[in-house]
Amino acid sequence: MSVPLFDVRGVTKSYGFGASKFDALKGVSLNVFAGQSLAIVGKSGSGKSTLMHLLALLDDPDSGELLVNGSPANKLGSKQTNRLRNEDFGFVFQQFFLTPNASVLENVILPLKIAGVGANERRARGMAVLEQLELADKAGNRATNLSGGQKQRVVIARALVNNPKVIFADEPTGNLDTVTGLLVEDILFSLNKDRGITLVIVTHDEDLADRCDVQLLIRDGLMESSASSTGAAA
Ligand code: ADP
Ligand code: MG
Repeated sequence: MSVPLFDVRGVTKSYGFGASKFDALKGVSLNVFAGQSLAIVGKSGSGKSTLMHLLALLDDPDSGELLVNGSPANKLGSKQTNRLRNEDFGFVFQQFFLTPNASVLENVILPLKIAGVGANERRARGMAVLEQLELADKAGNRATNLSGGQKQRVVIARALVNNPKVIFADEPTGNLDTVTGLLVEDILFSLNKDRGITLVIVTHDEDLADRCDVQLLIRDGLMESSASSTGAAA
């Protein structure tokens, strides 16, 4: 069996201290293999976003282990961690809002700016990804002057501009009507099928979860069911 992209072993995470301490993750283990699509499902407050933040190296577990491509995440230097986050990971998070007064193109090329890519190449790559998502004609629009579905496509364009290996999506269709949500889902799954981009999706939506190769149900910080041991075909 190949080395998992993410190998999570008994991770815990608590918020707060003393009487207000809350155990958001109480020992969660899972594997994610390159090329898979994985759904993390569960009720609000069950720890889904916390788990996704750990996988995406946006936060550290209190205990347990996280291996990325076989290497312990806590042994990676900050340079390597930043490179993974900026170049290998794309984020489609509801709370990662677009900058309202910047143009669509400026929003999309922000990760390239952070990665130090020059202005001409930023523009070319930003426009290429906007073309792919049929948003090229909106490049100069303020990000606020867009429909919900267009905004979410801009967020996906921004996630794609670095040519990531993994896309983390937290409730990617949560604010969208059914038809627009399905269009956004189709974009994500075509990236998975056609380009082999690994998808890690947090969702309430059972239909969206069913489209993924593997579904993990998390309840009160514990994994209720895990299909990851059988979903290792990739
Ligand atoms: P989900 O994404 O499944 O709704 P979260 O992972 O966001 O759940 O949160 C799990 C629990 O941890 C919730 O009870 C939430 O209130 C709590 N929590 C999340 N983030 C914080 C934080 N920064 N500080 C304190 N509590 C938090
Ligand atoms: Mg959440």
